[in-house]
Amino acid sequence: MERTAVVGQSQASSLSALLLCLEQGMVSLSPHSGLLEKLFQYIDLHQDEFVQILKEWVAIESDSVQPVPRLRQELFRMMALAADKLRNLGARVDSAELGSQQMPDGQSLPIPPIILAELGNDPKKPTVCFYGHLDVQPAQKDDGWLTHPYTLTEVDGKLYGRGATDNKGPVLAWINAMSTFRALQQDLPVNIKFVLEGMEEAGSVALEELVRREKDHFFSGVDYIVISDNLWLSQRKPALTHGTRGNCYFTVEVFINWKHRLATYTLSNRSFRSGFRQKVKCRDQDFHSGTFGGILNEPMTDLIALLGSLVDSSGHILIPGIYDQVAPITEEEKTMYKNIDLDLEEYQKSNQVEKFLFDTKEELLMHLWRYPSLSIHGIEGAFDEPGTKNSHSRPSPGKIFNRLVPSMTPSMVEKQQTSLSCHYGGGPVKAHGWSPCFPLVAQHLEAVFSKRNSFNKMAVSMVLGLHPWTASVNDTQYLAAHRAIKTVFGVDPDMIQDGSTIPVAKIFQAITQKSVMMLPLGAVDDGEHSQNEKINS
Ligand SMILES: [Zn+2]
Repeated sequence: MERTAVVGQSQASSLSALLLCLEQGMVSLSPHSGLLEKLFQYIDLHQDEFVQILKEWVAIESDSVQPVPRLRQELFRMMALAADKLRNLGARVDSAELGSQQMPDGQSLPIPPIILAELGNDPKKPTVCFYGHLDVQPAQKDDGWLTHPYTLTEVDGKLYGRGATDNKGPVLAWINAMSTFRALQQDLPVNIKFVLEGMEEAGSVALEELVRREKDHFFSGVDYIVISDNLWLSQRKPALTHGTRGNCYFTVEVFINWKHRLATYTLSNRSFRSGFRQKVKCRDQDFHSGTFGGILNEPMTDLIALLGSLVDSSGHILIPGIYDQVAPITEEEKTMYKNIDLDLEEYQKSNQVEKFLFDTKEELLMHLWRYPSLSIHGIEGAFDEPGTKNSHSRPSPGKIFNRLVPSMTPSMVEKQQTSLSCHYGGGPVKAHGWSPCFPLVAQHLEAVFSKRNSFNKMAVSMVLGLHPWTASVNDTQYLAAHRAIKTVFGVDPDMIQDGSTIPVAKIFQAITQKSVMMLPLGAVDDGEHSQNEKINS
């Protein structure tokens, strides 16, 4: 049954959620039952009402990124509104209090509660737990928005507003699906639980702790966990996500070992918001290049040589052994890549990139999803203003970001780093059964650095390690979602992975040991975190 001709995407989102519940409840969807038509019709008829609720939610500036008391109040207001909405649906709602967050500048801010809600507890039915978040990234009209970011505005069949796709729209799609069952006095085919948080964009502060605490309580009866917090690969074709990359964030520092004075540098990075401080021994003044140029090993020159040794011009990581842990490709995987709907030329054009490193769809996707990548994110202490300053900069941490693929884990790298401190000679590191060896970023850098015979010192540290996540596409709930999408959209979904890191999936999977699925409800051009974020109406 082809529905896309009659329903828009935000309707289709509610329908996908609804159909998934039916499929997971193993409700027979015979075309004669009439149930589907009734559900579809209800959603069609109530579309304006659903958009109105999204408008009210978007109007709340629930920005969790900027640590400002006024915005925290908005977050509390947002969570209370969602809790009320769920209560009105007849759900049992708990708002878990999570204390406060200590900011690096010493101020303390309250953490918005995480909503744990429950609708139905029939032991004969499976229980589906939906996760979503109601906080948003910062947005201001003068960032380049064409409409006001906190006023949901429809333009050419698209609903623009901060949070429309990330993640208020998808959360509402699930809630609307529940209200549809209720309005039509249809028994829910499954028991539903909701976990809604308000700090996702700030690193899901306190979520992991809560999941651990609730593992044997709220999560004990859960069969399936569904996350709708990422995007399709295409503008038109729906997708199911079965893997995300992890990441390791390293810093490497080169400094002149001068009189062992202590100076403190704050290493900030987007993904590590609780703040990080590291003490390094160094001189606390710049060196004038007229006075010292030519008679010193300059830290910046050493650092650039180190950073230049990491990746070649074809994107290949030059750290020995880093590809040894990548799982070999299977035939099933090859077929999956082949079936994905991606026009390379269009992809380049929509991303405003003249040419990617790879010429085929398959190679491009594999390098986004199943092979590690390494990025250099910045140099602190470098002179980055216009003009011609002529002193050498002080100690200069370079930031390296390493994407892990599903068969790799941060601990592999971390443990080797630990082992490495005992194996400075560059010999093979045989740690914990990873054979033959897994060379480490620090080992490689140490080898490159020692070849330079510099008088400077180097220090490498890993400041963040997040695990990759992977799920089986043959899992019951993936098969159910596949059928649901086929019914709503009339096409098979793309089975995709995500090149970025979405820690919540791994947190749920590792702690609860339940089946976790990512069911994206937004299109690739929705612009999450960006200006003019939208969801197709
Ligand atoms: Zn999100």
